[in-house]
Amino acid sequence: MKYCSTRGGVRGLDFCDVLFSGFAPDGGMFMPESLPVLSPDALRSWTGLRFSQLVVEVASLFIPTHLMPRDHLEALVTEALSNFSVPEVVRFAKLKEGLTVVELFHGNTLAFKDLAMTCTVRFLDYFLHKQKRRAIVLVGTSGDTGGSAIQSAKGLAQVDVVVVYPRGRVTPVQEKHMTTCLQDNIHVFAADGSSDDIDVALRRLFAEQELVRSHGLMSLNSVNWSRIMIQLAHFIYAYLHLSGLEKASADRPLPPLEVVVPTGGAGNIAAGCIVKQMGVPLQLVAMVNTNDIVQRTVQCGDFSMAADVKQTLAPAIDIQDPYNMERVFWLLSGRDGALVKGIMEEFHRSHRHTLPDQLHTALSQAMSAVTVTDEGIMETMRRCWEDNRYLLCPHTAVAVWHHYHTPSSAKLNRCYLATASPAKFQSAVQRAGLTLDLPASLSSLDKMDARCEDLERSPAWAKDWEDTLRERIHSISSARESNVNYYT
Ligand SMILES: *Cc1c(COP(=O)(O)O)cnc(C)c1O
Repeated sequence: MKYCSTRGGVRGLDFCDVLFSGFAPDGGMFMPESLPVLSPDALRSWTGLRFSQLVVEVASLFIPTHLMPRDHLEALVTEALSNFSVPEVVRFAKLKEGLTVVELFHGNTLAFKDLAMTCTVRFLDYFLHKQKRRAIVLVGTSGDTGGSAIQSAKGLAQVDVVVVYPRGRVTPVQEKHMTTCLQDNIHVFAADGSSDDIDVALRRLFAEQELVRSHGLMSLNSVNWSRIMIQLAHFIYAYLHLSGLEKASADRPLPPLEVVVPTGGAGNIAAGCIVKQMGVPLQLVAMVNTNDIVQRTVQCGDFSMAADVKQTLAPAIDIQDPYNMERVFWLLSGRDGALVKGIMEEFHRSHRHTLPDQLHTALSQAMSAVTVTDEGIMETMRRCWEDNRYLLCPHTAVAVWHHYHTPSSAKLNRCYLATASPAKFQSAVQRAGLTLDLPASLSSLDKMDARCEDLERSPAWAKDWEDTLRERIHSISSARESNVNYYT
């Protein structure tokens, strides 16, 4: 299993190279050079697996045993998923009118990112120990990634984590998950801007080859292939349990399953597309809030940013640069690196691009997409509560809106990915006129000490942020100098 860049400039890398990278050196994103195909028999043989066993099966398709023997992989994944608050790790809520919610939020920071982050951080730690090296993880976050990276990596000996979040655009609980972690391998910055502004500064740092090389700088955003890889598992898990596969007769084609996905950076929907290409008959629906670039791209090939990121009730998907769409474009263009390079370079230069007809057609066949307003979010949260006494987080409500507006057909099972717990988004719950009992794990966060540093908005903010972060990276490294041996 080898990996290549979506822009055609790099190939032949192994899982370990890719795990320790952010963007590829040519600016692209890493993908497997070829995807394994899951036969109907293979899928049927997985129906009895627990979620963590399925993660092992999926990961073993992409991590060769000479890099990580099977028993090590099993131990790492089991350990990573052992701290979830429900024993099944991923749970299905079957509500009225055939509404099935796939609860992905039972990890430490109550968002689906914990699933892939806990596993990925353990893979990191495993290889760093083996090679006696260190790494610095640099993460920009719209709220959930930062907390999840911090909670997964706090206290690790070989890794420092630098997180930058947009001040005032994350919820109090998200902020606390980041700032209350006082371990000295965790460094948190609050930036005066949007998460897309933060990405501008971080992308430039990742483009500095010397900085990346000499400090073992890496990303844990869903730029990182390992996160996407682990996310393949929940699509397959949902398929095995919800498509009707177990009842379908073996001589018939596999039954399809529609999966409705709240979409921001598009890592989750990219994972869905990959699973589909691996032979699982999924029908994907990307649900967005009024930051609707993904919906416009799918609907009309209009891959262009709006002037501003709008703040909505679903802040984790307030994103105008859905960077994982690059992986989707690559897959759907028949892995045409030159084409993807052209699209992405134009998009980053001018913030707009019209997809070539062929690619747009392939994209609109691979998924559909719908935009939901704040009113739609609140209406969905209220209706689901009234019908079921079941509280949705605002992102999950973006998905479940579809249930109340587009009846599903009898022939097609459908499920909705629940990406966070409502407890993380209390003001959205209140805005919808609902109330929430706070879990004890959250109320204790309030009493904890907090620490973070500011990145202020100045006329030259992008450069100033970059300089501050670069200095910090240097100072982390020199503090560790005594026993450094960076991963390069
Ligand atoms: C990150 C996140 C999303 C979006 O996931 P992508 O993979 O970036 O599209 C949706 N909901 C919540 C709660 C999240 O934290």
